Amino acid sequence: MLLRAPRTPLALADLPLPAPGPGQLRVRVAACGVCRTDLHVADGELPRPKLPLVLGHEVVGRVDALGEGVTRFAPGDRVGIPWLGWTCGVCPACRSGRENLCPSARFTGYDLDGGYAEAAVVDARYAFPLPAGYSDAEAAPLLCAGLIGYRAWAPVREARRLGLYGFGAAAHVVAQLARHAGQEVFAFTRAGDAVAQAFARSLGAAWTGGSEERPPAPLDAAILFAPVGALVPAALAATAPGGTVVCAGIHMSDIPSFPYEKLWGERSIRSVANLTRDDGREFLPLAARLGIHPEVTVFPLEQANEAIRALREGRFTGSAVLTMGC
Ligand SMILES: [Zn+2]
Ligand SMILES: [Zn+2]
Repeated sequence: MLLRAPRTPLALADLPLPAPGPGQLRVRVAACGVCRTDLHVADGELPRPKLPLVLGHEVVGRVDALGEGVTRFAPGDRVGIPWLGWTCGVCPACRSGRENLCPSARFTGYDLDGGYAEAAVVDARYAFPLPAGYSDAEAAPLLCAGLIGYRAWAPVREARRLGLYGFGAAAHVVAQLARHAGQEVFAFTRAGDAVAQAFARSLGAAWTGGSEERPPAPLDAAILFAPVGALVPAALAATAPGGTVVCAGIHMSDIPSFPYEKLWGERSIRSVANLTRDDGREFLPLAARLGIHPEVTVFPLEQANEAIRALREGRFTGSAVLTMGC
């Protein structure tokens, strides 16, 4: 399913089967998650995507061909392909364990063709082995919603009361991590979204409410998954002195100005960007060990536009996943 230009629907297209170059794997895709980032790319909110482009960076499939020099995987292995598709390895960020910030990084489903397809080619060094026990469709959201959620949650894992703004694919994984860590979860959704709030309570949220509401007790930290800049001052106002507000999305509307008093008291605002391979090496086995369970709504590949529309309109809980029927 090809994006030929921003703000146009994806088009079903027949492309030649890609051949893996040196160091690459070709993967027969079984499932690919639909991430909010895909909407930002399709809507032209992120600059300079490869065009035409195959979206999708939560890719689960099986290796079917190896490029020259690949020894890490064998044909038939199940692998996951995440957002981080390539880094330079030599810049200061890469050399200090922060490859997520590499200025030359290439991203799957953005700079490189992704997984809204029957086959994908990936640099073998950036593919992850996937834990058994997850179906292909269930494993897909772990690769971005799970991984980015984990990276956003890691700096606030010690907070006692954790607010989650936007209860979509990432938050529903983070809520499970937080409950395992003994944190109290406060879930903020669009005002009056009873379905999302019931879903959050089913995953152990202690309190649910609209995103402009004040929680019954001050938060020690908050993670913003909703791409709404106005939630930054709202989350700061709900957070106790010393608390941290983490912005986890790749794109957000402008943050309105707010009185310094909301930041005062050693509150901090930070973002998290992309992922490192270490995040994957930590998170994927942890998810399996804790029994983190992604809830998925499955669409066939040809219905990618329908899946995107459903995500945009918040018509399901958990994650949307495309499956390739193979
Ligand atoms: Zn680099
Ligand atoms: Zn994503």
